[in-house]
Amino acid sequence: MQAYHRPRTLQDALGALAGGAARVAAGCTDLFPATGARELTGPVVDITRVEELRGVTQGPDGWRFGAATTWADVIRADLPPAFDMLKEAAREVGSVQIQTAGTLAGNICNASPAADGVPCLLALEAEVEIGSVAGTRRVPLAGFITGVRRTVLRPGEMVLALHVPDAAAHGRSRFLKLGARRYLVISIAMVAVRLLVEEGRVSQAAVAVGACSAVARRLARLEGALVGARADETVGRVEAGLVLQDLAPIDDIRADAAYRGTAAVELIRRAIGDLVRA
Ligand SMILES: Cc1cc2nc3c(=O)[nH]c(=O)nc-3n(C[C@H](O)[C@H](O)[C@H](O)COP(=O)(O)OP(=O)(O)OC[C@H]3O[C@@H](n4cnc5c(N)ncnc54)[C@H](O)[C@@H]3O)c2cc1C
Repeated sequence: MQAYHRPRTLQDALGALAGGAARVAAGCTDLFPATGARELTGPVVDITRVEELRGVTQGPDGWRFGAATTWADVIRADLPPAFDMLKEAAREVGSVQIQTAGTLAGNICNASPAADGVPCLLALEAEVEIGSVAGTRRVPLAGFITGVRRTVLRPGEMVLALHVPDAAAHGRSRFLKLGARRYLVISIAMVAVRLLVEEGRVSQAAVAVGACSAVARRLARLEGALVGARADETVGRVEAGLVLQDLAPIDDIRADAAYRGTAAVELIRRAIGDLVRA
């Protein structure tokens, strides 16, 4: 390893990243295993001591999750029920040790198809705040991850925070994940569902599926079919055809496309069933 920066301020962190040679390190739970070596190579900027990047806060327009916010921070945060899916995902990320070190921002920046945070944050309409010495910009999470291990981050940039707008922080939500075993497992399929039911009918529906495509997806056709449904009609509206048109599941070593499609439909039905029954 050439240089290990551990700045205390955001300004110093961005300064150390300027030039584009250094990599950001947060919890290192993805970064370190991916090196396949005993130590990280090249310059590294460890952001875990930067106070401005920590914590979950509510502002006038919504919720902010600083880039150094860990899964354990999410579990402990006082958040409305729309975020329950994110807490459920947090409790299923690896083990307690991984949840204590690993961050939400690291999960999205690593851009794995099996990143459990991504469907939840898509269903919460999250925006990604990106910074560099040149300034800041915001992009919707849906446009931030562009492929397997690919994001729109440019050299010298880092994620500063994730923002969830107030408009999406409504309703109740559920996250369900299927893996080859119950615990410490990479998802074969996972779903995040947020429903707002007003006067007996669904007024907002957000359904996102991960681990079935290169990048997790929202299912616009299914969401459209759910809006307006009475609570007792919702599960029946989850037709496989509607799901699969938007999902187009992939084959890989963990499961084939047909299995993934069946699993995703069943997980969505269960998640919606749990939400409308509770
Ligand atoms: C045993 C084990 C089990 C796991 N189980 C799960 C699981 O069940 N579900 C799941 O989704 N993941 C799982 N993971 C993966 C990992 O723990 C998560 O993706 C975690 O959220 C990554 O966060 P991190 O802070 O450790 O990221 P890091 O490893 O520090 O970084 C990951 C990548 O993102 C970049 N990065 C990090 N932060 C920023 C930033 N602010 N700006 C720009 N780039 C940044 C880094 O440069 C690196 O490329 C597991 C990992 C292990 C080792």
